[in-house]
Amino acid sequence: MTGVVVLGATGSIGTQAADVLEAHADRFRVRGLASRQKGPEVLALARRLHAPVIALVDPAAADALRPHLRPGDPEVRVGEAAVVSLVDGPDVDVVVQGITGAAGLASSLRAAERGKRLALANKESMVVAGPLLTATAARHGAEIVPVDSEHCAIHQCLRAGRRGEVRRLILTASGGPFLGADAARLARVTPAEALKHPTWTMGPRITVDSATLVNKALEVVEARWLFDVPADRIEVVVHPQSIVHSMVEFVDGSVVAQMGPPDMRTPIRYALGFPDRLPAARPAFDVRDYRQLTFLAPDRAVFPGLDLGFEAARRGGTAGAALNAADEVAVARFLAGALPFPRIASACADALRAHPFVADPTLADLVRTDAWAREEVAAAWSR
Ligand code: MG
Repeated sequence: MTGVVVLGATGSIGTQAADVLEAHADRFRVRGLASRQKGPEVLALARRLHAPVIALVDPAAADALRPHLRPGDPEVRVGEAAVVSLVDGPDVDVVVQGITGAAGLASSLRAAERGKRLALANKESMVVAGPLLTATAARHGAEIVPVDSEHCAIHQCLRAGRRGEVRRLILTASGGPFLGADAARLARVTPAEALKHPTWTMGPRITVDSATLVNKALEVVEARWLFDVPADRIEVVVHPQSIVHSMVEFVDGSVVAQMGPPDMRTPIRYALGFPDRLPAARPAFDVRDYRQLTFLAPDRAVFPGLDLGFEAARRGGTAGAALNAADEVAVARFLAGALPFPRIASACADALRAHPFVADPTLADLVRTDAWAREEVAAAWSR
């Protein structure tokens, strides 16, 4: 039996991970679930998955939950530290990291320090602290298997050749809901419009990030550290159908792609089962259902957020932390109706270029950069 904890259990990744874990209950034992503040939801999941422990970040959420506990219900732990320590259990083999944002970094690092398999959906861990996280994982024998669909595809494609034979990583992007739009259209985008993704069902922040292409920018940084490939050997192509999840070009000119319907349970299944492939209950993927698969160059002028990822991947150091934190705050402001859609990318660009850059940062430097960028964007848009 493989012991699993799910962090961000009540979010989009967490609930889909629950489906996969339930379908493969013969193979996985859920040791714990964590949620920021969704007490009733995480309790229902814990009952369904027979998890012995739940951790809630928010003390008020834990207090509200306690009167509803029945005999045999899981132990409830409280606070950020309780979430991180869920990872420590000797019976925990795999950590499904489904927390949104830089808030996931501490528990990702803990999983790496403890030598666990990190099924990583929290791309921000890699964007903020890629070199630190990969070095920590290497030192402690922890394996990082990406759950981000593009990176999961690349992870699979890389198995078709040797590392020295890789020429380019080609990340696909759906283009988001505003594919083909011009700058005038983007200036009028409302939160409700940005929250409607054409192919994927995801959490609010990543859905807005897909609309600005900042999500793809973050994924460029993620790929740079996860696969140790320099930014100039990473490319982005827009592929509106989201069937080809990404590709790897090898030195002999062969391009290997991974395909499938857009469903996050596929990368979750891969990351949980690797190197085995867990059978899916869904009907088989039929290419004949897709009469046309198209690929086009991204419009870098209308979506300037994309190139920020290449810039951050090239600079390394604290650049990823600044980019990510600025985006987290800018997206929250946009969703609150306080910041126009095109300003998300410009707030990110300002933070990336103006932050006090550190080339070889410690964790403390990264935390400082994150706080600096949050304050900068918040101050600029509180007026
Ligand atoms: Mg992705």
